[in-house]
Amino acid sequence: MSKLAEVAVDVKHPAIKGEYYYSIPERLEGKVQVGCRVKVPFNNQMVEGVVVRFLEKEDVACDFQLKDIAEVDDRFVLPEFMLDLARRLASYYAANLMDFLKLMLPPDVNPQREAVYAPAVEQIGSSRSEIQRKIFQYIKDKGEATVEEIVRATGLKRSSVNNALNVLTKKGFVKKEYRIKVESKFREVPAKPRLHKLTFEQANVLKEICRNMEKDKKPVLLFGITGSGKTEVYIKAIERVLAQGKKALVLVPEISLTPQMTERFHERFPGKVAVLHSRLSGGERFLEWYRIYQGDADITIGARSAVFAPIKDLGLIVIDEEHESSYKQMEFPFYDARQVARFRAEAQGATIIFGSATPSVESFYKAIKGEFIFLKLTRRVSGKPLPPVEVVDMREELKCGNKHIFSRKLCSEMDAALSRGEQVILFLNRRGHSTFILCRDCGFVMKCPHCDISLTYHSSDRTGKCHYCGFQVKAPDTCPSCDSRNIRYFGAGTEKVEQELKIRYPHVKVIRVDADSTSRKGTLEKMLSEFKCGRAQVMIGTQSIAKGLDFPRVSLVGIISADVTLNLPDFRAGERTFQLISQVAGRAGRGEIPGKVIVQTYSPESLAVKAACEYKFKDFYKEELISRKKFEYPPFYFLMNLTFSGGDHDLVKKAAEDVKKILEQEVSSQVKILGPIPAPRFKVKDNFRYNILLKSKEEKKLVEAGEFLKKLKSFNKKVYLTWDMNPQDLM
Ligand code: ADP
Ligand code: ZN
Ligand code: ZN
Repeated sequence: MSKLAEVAVDVKHPAIKGEYYYSIPERLEGKVQVGCRVKVPFNNQMVEGVVVRFLEKEDVACDFQLKDIAEVDDRFVLPEFMLDLARRLASYYAANLMDFLKLMLPPDVNPQREAVYAPAVEQIGSSRSEIQRKIFQYIKDKGEATVEEIVRATGLKRSSVNNALNVLTKKGFVKKEYRIKVESKFREVPAKPRLHKLTFEQANVLKEICRNMEKDKKPVLLFGITGSGKTEVYIKAIERVLAQGKKALVLVPEISLTPQMTERFHERFPGKVAVLHSRLSGGERFLEWYRIYQGDADITIGARSAVFAPIKDLGLIVIDEEHESSYKQMEFPFYDARQVARFRAEAQGATIIFGSATPSVESFYKAIKGEFIFLKLTRRVSGKPLPPVEVVDMREELKCGNKHIFSRKLCSEMDAALSRGEQVILFLNRRGHSTFILCRDCGFVMKCPHCDISLTYHSSDRTGKCHYCGFQVKAPDTCPSCDSRNIRYFGAGTEKVEQELKIRYPHVKVIRVDADSTSRKGTLEKMLSEFKCGRAQVMIGTQSIAKGLDFPRVSLVGIISADVTLNLPDFRAGERTFQLISQVAGRAGRGEIPGKVIVQTYSPESLAVKAACEYKFKDFYKEELISRKKFEYPPFYFLMNLTFSGGDHDLVKKAAEDVKKILEQEVSSQVKILGPIPAPRFKVKDNFRYNILLKSKEEKKLVEAGEFLKKLKSFNKKVYLTWDMNPQDLM
């Protein structure tokens, strides 16, 4: 009886994505396994695929000749539980198996291999030389070894080892094989770790976590203010897990921004940590992946996609800064690493710790409802209080004739801090110099011809840039519309803050940390260390620098404009602002010097600003939950955001209207269908976009709607439709 293989193929077109049957040629029998990567012929091409199932020929009614699998990659096999996870996710997100399998596979590179020697017999006779016997014993004890390892362990000369190995191989006592060369550059043992005795609060929290890990395995929400020692608790919990022979996964929002966190893990678990992130080369990523796959890494640290790392015996998943939106993939299949982690934890019997100083509203709600175990750290380890936060009403500044981006209060505090030799951090969530270029005479605003959004002025190269598609033009001296010379820049960004600072403090060294200044590999790390060692006094940055940084000499933190996030057209705008202010405040006063925070805003009375500035966390969540309920948003309603896009405006609009009509017929009455409306980002890269928003109290109903849409997908070749389950934003 011969077997067939079901193969998920990696093809782009939505209409043909899917799983197909292939036969297994004789020469590959035994080599092809479920979970293997293969190459198969598909529409006159060779495409990548993964074997997801075996079937008997009789089970498949098919009257045409199946094609053969062409090649198989036998370096690794995706474990069954990963395939199951892919199935569950494909169904939850109404995607194809391959959409998820792809995220689980390592990059397809040819890694370096090295020769190893393995024993081929049980024993060698006592007639062999002492050197040969010594080497054989070592190989046998270790299972396999490289020449290098043998030389190091036996202290013999390389030439004698080589000679002995030649003889042993010829006689058939050992065999030479090739294995993938694994070496991690993080392997060297770093400086002595700082070991801490847990505080009373930390010890209590750890006890609860451990009790839970043994029994209920419920997700835990660890709500701990900045500097309260959450990371230390993760480390201790991981030690427990490792002691039981299990492994841990630590997810962080963006790994290159948290070098300090990674360093701490290397320090505490030298040689046992694997790190996965986007700045690794293909080869580096393969090796880290392979170490995890082989079980050589006890702890895997990485950003979003590391949630798909091939970790067997997983005992604990830590999701640090769980409120961060970067856990969500912003393109199809729109997976959320937090959701994937929950499925994984269920399947592998692991526990999850969601940690944050400012939990997402959804997690907070699950915690008070008892779906998560709610644990709190309310005090900073240092015993220092959180810094006072002062709000400056920018309307008052204007009234008093101050049109600068710095309020008088912020100026005087900066003067004071700098004169004392302390450091200052300024945040503004907008990069570039100015967010729009406008003609004062005719009102003309320069826009991207492809995206219909205003161009951001960048002063370094005097260009207008589109932050969606990268389009750029030289900034004009005269208005392209009316020829007036009155063309001006508005809406300050980080570059502008830098310029103003340089005018105000010509002798102070300022560094700017944003996507523009840190695009080259290594520059971010360099800038952060310059600031840390005190070579620069002021750091300006976008919110990306708000995460996890720890600078003891910072006494003043200023938020140039809280309104940037507050005024986003999104139901999470308030939550984002609250989180931003609270996180930023946590960067001040971490060392011996007391800190201070200044928040500039035109809306000092808004709930998010007030609650964050007064550290009234509970008030914020309470009020926010009331409003989420009233306006039917998460956690009370589940959402699915449909996006229609295409180059022909009328076709896109019509497709959206048509689909709405079909949905009204087909989906449950428990699903509300809103729209279609032009998307907040209406035109991006020459594509027009429309949204339909689905809302339901029952998540299952939205999963069903997704299934329906998946079948519908090829409804119009000129309009592309995606669906985003549990969207992070509606823009
Ligand atoms: P969080 O992750 O909540 O911001 P961390 O775990 O980074 O807090 O702890 C903040 C600082 O306090 C770190 O420098 C850490 O090394 C230190 N720390 C944590 N726990 C203790 C402890 N029990 N005793 C002394 N120092 C500690
Ligand atoms: Zn003009
Ligand atoms: Zn553009």
